[in-house]
Amino acid sequence: MNKELTQKLVKRFPVLYQDYSSPMSQTCMCWGFDHGDGWFEIIWQLSLAIEEELGYSWLQERWFLFKKKFARHWNDAIYKLSPVRLDKQELVGAGTKEDPKRWVVVEKAKPTWDERIVRLLFGEEQKLGRFKVSRSGLKRLVFFPNTGFAVQQVKEKFGTLRYYCGATDAIDKYVRLAERLSAVTCENCGKSGERTYKHGWYSAECKDCRKQGAQAVGVEA
Ligand SMILES: [Zn+2]
Repeated sequence: MNKELTQKLVKRFPVLYQDYSSPMSQTCMCWGFDHGDGWFEIIWQLSLAIEEELGYSWLQERWFLFKKKFARHWNDAIYKLSPVRLDKQELVGAGTKEDPKRWVVVEKAKPTWDERIVRLLFGEEQKLGRFKVSRSGLKRLVFFPNTGFAVQQVKEKFGTLRYYCGATDAIDKYVRLAERLSAVTCENCGKSGERTYKHGWYSAECKDCRKQGAQAVGVEA
């Protein structure tokens, strides 16, 4: 979906689409609304229905958004102080059935400074009395607070909408209704259409868009 429509949704439903600007290590929502502009109205109405079902107050919403922002800055700061370290790996094996290719750690990553301090204070075993101390040092402080209902992914698959989120029974019904509507709504322009199969792809298109697409590739619609 285009930038303008995406922004409209993200702005109007900041809690629902709070992960739109999160890194892809945490969410698929960073890909945005991965479908055509024609389904905008379906997503808009679905979002309104979900919002009503959740019934967050204005204050609750502000609180969720504040926590989200705070956690984002906090976690960024921790990863800056104590970067994620990756063991050096190499692909070994001939690639045959007997000797398939596989990744093998060839060099362990060196512990970061904070992890060295933990080790220095609590020894190699990292024990404090009976308790084992986590090896990860500062990264233990990374946290993901509950920031309300967040949608995980919105995309097109086999010509219909897929909308992934946690759900109550009611939300589940709304989502399924929206997915059914998407199958009869042109993904390009939003006019009523039908799910078609051509050139190995499923898509939901109206007659006009199908004709245009066929002209573009020079085949019969
Ligand atoms: Zn169309």
